[in-house]
Amino acid sequence: MEQSDFAALADTLETLPPQEILAWAVAQYSPQIAMSTAFGPGGIVLLHMLQQLGLSIPVFYIDTGLLFPEVHRLRSQFEQTFGIQFERVCPALSLEQQAEQFGEKLWERDPDRCCWLRKVVPLQQVLRDKRAWISAIRADQTKLRAKARVILWDERNQVVKIHPLLRWSEEQVWEYIQRYRLPYNPLHDQGYPSLGCIPCTTPIERGEDRRSGRWRGKAKVECGLHGPILESLHHP
Ligand code: SF4
Repeated sequence: MEQSDFAALADTLETLPPQEILAWAVAQYSPQIAMSTAFGPGGIVLLHMLQQLGLSIPVFYIDTGLLFPEVHRLRSQFEQTFGIQFERVCPALSLEQQAEQFGEKLWERDPDRCCWLRKVVPLQQVLRDKRAWISAIRADQTKLRAKARVILWDERNQVVKIHPLLRWSEEQVWEYIQRYRLPYNPLHDQGYPSLGCIPCTTPIERGEDRRSGRWRGKAKVECGLHGPILESLHHP
């Protein structure tokens, strides 16, 4: 399919609630479909929706080796409570090997290269045998994400990329979490609305942009998993 075909499909899918988008995607692409999660609020919502719908697909997370301990605790909670087995995807280089090859604290000097090594390449590898990839990004998160569609062709990874929560607001996500009393990362109540790796995440002050704690002080706003795909989209 051409990108224009996906645009027409997105026009239809965007009128549906996330549960119906999920059900459609799984019916269309299973068993070569997977969901990625960083265990943020949106990911939690999608995990719960999959459970409620009785849909079982592989769910993976990228363990950069620099995740907050609270992320691992939340994953473990989901494994125990919901019986989900997450696939752990790791970079080829350990942190020690990365430091030997590129120097200590690469994230301070060249965060794009660090994200490439620790996130983007592992993602490419896990998607090699997939036809479709589900992610919980939302249009209200960044200007770039606002350019996304519910479904699009991801040229770089050669898969269909699906965003069932694209049109939801942050408030809708939290309402859903509260309605179903879902576990979530306690750091979200301590000034961290958006979480990434420990060295690249700080809490935010009241009134700051919700993602201003990511790569604070740097021009970088995306880890490279979604940004280049969205930058390459051409809208009429
Ligand atoms: S978020 Fe920071 S530490 Fe994590 S992979 Fe990217 S640059 Fe490296």
